[in-house]
Order: sequence, then structure tokens, then C-alpha cells
Amino acid sequence: MKIRGKLITAFFIMTIIPIALIFLCVTAILNRQNAMFADDYNMEDGNIRNYDIVLNPVSFFYNIALPDYQSIYKITQSSPNKLLDKQFLEQINDVLLRSGSYLIVVKDKTYYYVGSQEKFKKLGSLPLQSIYDENASRLTYIDNKSNSIIKEIVFGFSDKTTGQAFLVIDFSDIQPRWFTVVRDIALAIFFILLSTGTLLVIWIYQSILRPLNTLRLATMQIGAGDLNEPIHIYSSDEIGKLCCDFEEMRIRLKNMVEERIQSEENTREIISNISHDLKTPITAIKGYTEGILDGVADTAEKQQKYLQTIYAKANDITYLIDELSLFSKVERNSFAYNFVSVNLERYFTDCIEDVSLDLESKNITIDYYNTTDKDTCILADTEQLKRVLHNIIENAAKYNDKPDGHISVRIEEVKRKPVAPPLYRQLKEDGSDLFPQQPPDEFIQVQIEDNGPGIAAKDLPHIFDRFYRADVSRNSSKRGSGLGLAIVRMIISDHGGKVWAESIEGVGTSFYFTLKKEARN
Ligand code: ADP
Repeated sequence: MKIRGKLITAFFIMTIIPIALIFLCVTAILNRQNAMFADDYNMEDGNIRNYDIVLNPVSFFYNIALPDYQSIYKITQSSPNKLLDKQFLEQINDVLLRSGSYLIVVKDKTYYYVGSQEKFKKLGSLPLQSIYDENASRLTYIDNKSNSIIKEIVFGFSDKTTGQAFLVIDFSDIQPRWFTVVRDIALAIFFILLSTGTLLVIWIYQSILRPLNTLRLATMQIGAGDLNEPIHIYSSDEIGKLCCDFEEMRIRLKNMVEERIQSEENTREIISNISHDLKTPITAIKGYTEGILDGVADTAEKQQKYLQTIYAKANDITYLIDELSLFSKVERNSFAYNFVSVNLERYFTDCIEDVSLDLESKNITIDYYNTTDKDTCILADTEQLKRVLHNIIENAAKYNDKPDGHISVRIEEVKRKPVAPPLYRQLKEDGSDLFPQQPPDEFIQVQIEDNGPGIAAKDLPHIFDRFYRADVSRNSSKRGSGLGLAIVRMIISDHGGKVWAESIEGVGTSFYFTLKKEARN
């Protein structure tokens, strides 16, 4: 989920969800209170509507006492003297007490019956009267002192004395209940806000702060030079993308550092190899020069031989320096390639002709087979490609150990198998293929085979490494720097091709390299 989506969700978690939960909880708490009231006041649950108990308690208590009040009123009208019967009064009062009310009967300003002495003590003074007034027959008061509703009926007894019946409805009980409701609602709101807030914090922490923290640690690690620790964050939001970019940057930095270390290592290796390879001819030159100076070469013939050796060794040094300067140019990419379209057939015919005369003088024959179309063209730097051919063919001639050496050059066309199409096509928005089927790659493969001594299996994987010379060659008189095939590999790779070798010791060696065919319009 994107951060925008997360913020919207966070907004919902912080507003809609708590509101809905609070509404549900408040409803549940009020329903519970209603049920308890219904239970306490012997009412049907459904009779308590609109949460009057909490919102309008006076009306609630008034309503629950109404039926009792009406029946007492009927008695005062039909047979008032019944209200002088203490047993009858006890019966009525018992029923009233169950709902927190009680009855007071006054006869001629004298308290005749008090249903609850305990509650009566807390009650304020009642308006006792001696004259029966028709208008004041039914009155309702609120007694603030004892939190009661008082409903009064004034009537006359049969002996013409004034009677007053007070139905005292005690609603002081509502206060603790109301506190309970408020406390429950406050607690519910507190826990709902606490839990939604905690959920939100955990979620934000997991999805935003944790990845940011990981990223911060990774930055610190990279700052401290440790590029090996990958970042594992798999979210699809902006932070996830930032982490992906960061991971890519880490890999690129790591590669760059490794390349730099490798290049430093190479430079060290090159310097050590150069000093080693230069030492041999220089020691020889020094030795032979001293021989001449010290008069060891005392005959003209000997001096001639010594000078020839010095000359040959100086040539070795020149050869080595030339190869080295070429190699470092290729390696530093300061080699300016000049790629041109070359007709394969003509180019190779010329090259083979070039070398065949030299090979003939060494008693080596060369064959050339080209099975590609005569008008096949490749994109190549002609000078550098010639260097590739020369290096391989010169090696074949140099290391040839047979009296009748033979070299075959074969050129053929190869097609790289196209990648199998995906099971499901992935389409862009405009309906075109996201990964359109590529036509198969077409290559030219060149094979240069000789019948020389072959290369030992242990040497074969290393012959393209710089300064690598098989032991046999190192210990032989064959001049070499160990750079020829390394240069071949770099040039072919810069042409977008590959080079490899196959060899059977004592039978011969085949060098293969590929070149990209120029696309025909
Ligand atoms: P060098 O200057 O020693 O010829 P190269 O890089 O050209 O260096 O070759 C590396 C090694 O590969 C050689 O030292 C030699 O041992 C081996 N090699 C190359 N070509 C052939 C070949 N045609 N036959 C046998 N060995 C070969």
C-alpha cells in the first residue's frame, strides 16, 4: 500500500473506527443499565424507551409511579376510608417499596401512616392542610433535599376531615447508577482510543518507521564501509521503492569497490610480472655485456654471438613492452575502436593470405573454409580483429611441435535459440507486448584449429588470464609475455563476442570466437 493509502487508512482508524466502537459500547452500556432498571423496578424491558433513565430520570420515575398513583387516586375517590386501614396501607406500600417509592397518609394535618421512616427523615417538610380544596386535589413536587418526586392527592374522609396521600418517589438511587454509566462510558472511550491508537502506532511503526530504521542502519553500515549487508524490505510503498533503489545503489557501489580492488590487485600483479619478465632478458643482457667487457668473449666470433644474444634479449624486452602497453590500453578502455562494416569473406581471405607466406616458411600449411553467405558482413575494428587472428595463429605456429604443422580456419553461422515465449503475455497499457519476442541472435563463429602439442587440462581454463603461460611454455625457449590471449579476450569481448578453447594434449588445440553478424536491412 502506498503512503497516501496508509494515511487514509490511518485517518479511518483514528476517526471512523473509534466513533463506531464508542457508539456500540455506549449503546451496550445503556441497554445494560436499562435492563437493570427494568429488573429493579419490575418493568418490561421494552417499556423503558429512549434511554430516559439517563437522559431524563425525573420523567422516568414519574412514569413508573404513574399506575400506582392512579390506583391510589381511584381509592381516594371511591372509598377513601380504606386509606385508614393500616393493613391495606402496608400492602400498597410493600408494592411501592419494590420500586423505591413509599406512601404517606395524613389525616387532618396529622401523619397517619409513613411507609418508610428512614426515607421520611431525609424528606423536606410537606404542605399539610386542613381544608379540602377541590383545586388542589392533585399536585406534584420535587423535593431537592431527598431527591424525590412527591405526588399528592388531597381528598376528604367520610368524617369530613381532610386527607392527604403522598406518593414519594425516591430517585436518589439514580445518582450512583448515573455515575456508573458515565464511568463505564469513559472507560470504554479510553480503552477504545488506547487500543486504536496502539494499533495505529504498531502499524505505522511496522510499515514506515521500521523500514526507515533499517534504511538508516544500512546507510550507517555503508558509511562505515560495509557494503556486504543487503537490505531486506519487501513493501510496495514509496519506502519499499526507496529501499530497492538503495539496494541497487549498494550493489553498484559494491561492484565499483570490488572493481577498484581488483584493478589495484591487477596493477600490483602486472608490476610484479613485468619486473619478473624483464629481469630474465636484462640479466642476460648484463651477463653478456660483462662477458664482452671482461674479455670473456675473446674471439670476434664469440663477441658476435654475445652481441646477437644481447640483441635478441633487447628485442624480447621491446616485445614485452609493446604487448604491455597494448594490454594496458585495452584494459583502461583507452583503446579507440573504429567499428566498420566488414565483408567477412573478403576480410578473412586477405588475413589468411597475409599470414600464409610466413607460415609456409615455418613449414605450416593453412586451410580456410567459410560456409556463410558470401555477402555476410560483420561490424568490427579491422586492425584489432587482425590482431586477434595473428595472436591465435602466431601461437599455433610458435607452439607447433610437428614437422608438418597444420592450421584450419573454419567460419560458420550460428543461431542462438530464441528464448521460449512466456506462458502468459504481459501487455502494456496500449495493448502491445511488454516483452516482445526477439528474433534469434545470429552469430559468426570462427574456429582456428592446429595440430600442435595441445594444452594441458589444468592450464586450459587459465590461458586467457593475463600473464598466464603454461609451465611447458614458460620453461621453453618460446618467447612470450602471457598477454596475447588476454588481449584476444578483451578485443573479442569489446566486439560483443565470446572466445574459448578446446584442446587434447598431443593432438591439437581449437580456438573459437564469435562475432555479431551485421543486421541486414
Ligand atoms: P604467450 O605470450 O605465452 O604465448 P598467450 O597469452 O598468447 O601467451 O598464451 C598463453 C599460453 O597458452 C601460452 O603460454 C601457451 O602455454 C598456451 N597456448 C596458447 N596457444 C597455444 C597453442 N596453439 N598450442 C599450445 N599452447 C598454446
